[in-house]
Amino acid sequence: MAQEFLSLHDRVAVVTGASRGIGRAIALELARRGARVVVNYRRSADAAQQVVQAIRAAGGQAEAFQADVSDYDQAQALIQFARQTWGRVDILVNNAGITRDKLFMQMKPADWDEVIRTNLYSTIHCSKAAIRPMLRQRYGRIINITSVAGIIGNAGQVNYSASKAGQIGFTKALAREVASRNITVNAVAPGYIETDIWAGVPEEAKAQILAMIPVGRKGAPEDVAYTVAFLASEQAAYITGQVIAVDGGMT
Ligand code: NAP
Repeated sequence: MAQEFLSLHDRVAVVTGASRGIGRAIALELARRGARVVVNYRRSADAAQQVVQAIRAAGGQAEAFQADVSDYDQAQALIQFARQTWGRVDILVNNAGITRDKLFMQMKPADWDEVIRTNLYSTIHCSKAAIRPMLRQRYGRIINITSVAGIIGNAGQVNYSASKAGQIGFTKALAREVASRNITVNAVAPGYIETDIWAGVPEEAKAQILAMIPVGRKGAPEDVAYTVAFLASEQAAYITGQVIAVDGGMT
């Protein structure tokens, strides 16, 4: 399939957690470059439909699909839906993620379970479902949305930081396994990006993080989406097993 520079024309993409925030921006950007996109969500059906409508209004193709990707069977169903709808899956963006912040001393087993399942198991489950068709078609792009917390750690986020560091190890090992089949596996590590995920964070903590950013401002979801779209393209074929920080220089 010959591709124009940075075009994703005819590609089929699955973006987990694409109803809001960074996932939404990624879905819109991949579609803008010509990919057909499955917009996955867990609860926000209306928001996911709005993403689908925005893509269609711009002349693109998209479908919404509800699945809790922390669950193995639902992750399988999501990838299956993409294959049934458009016959293949070329690009998988493992973006769905949550936080349950508190000090380690106060963390309960449920705080660990939920975060590790949602952030790390979802990446493993969706990749597992997508890898066989990618191997068969000798083409694939898996992009895992990790975090700077997985690189440098963050106080109050030991569960989240562990899940994000787990995604990085997964990325590097899987990249080695599938590289010879024209499948790349990379991670993108956002810093402080303005989305709902920051809703419960105290202003003082946000100001402290802002002070750590050399560029001197928060990032926008689109900043992450442009990097993901590049890694999803034909032109990024020689980049695999990498972690690209999109963090205004924070790390
Ligand atoms: P967000 O605005 O809170 O959006 C989270 C998205 O994930 C929503 O679409 C949500 O779906 C979906 N989701 C959550 N659990 C899910 C599940 N079990 N199954 C399917 N979908 C699920 O978060 P965000 O800031 O865009 O974060 C996106 C990713 O970037 C996360 O992995 C996060 O860790 C990472 N990240 C964000 C930042 C930042 O500063 N924002 C920094 C570093 C890394 P519903 O709407 O249906 O709930």
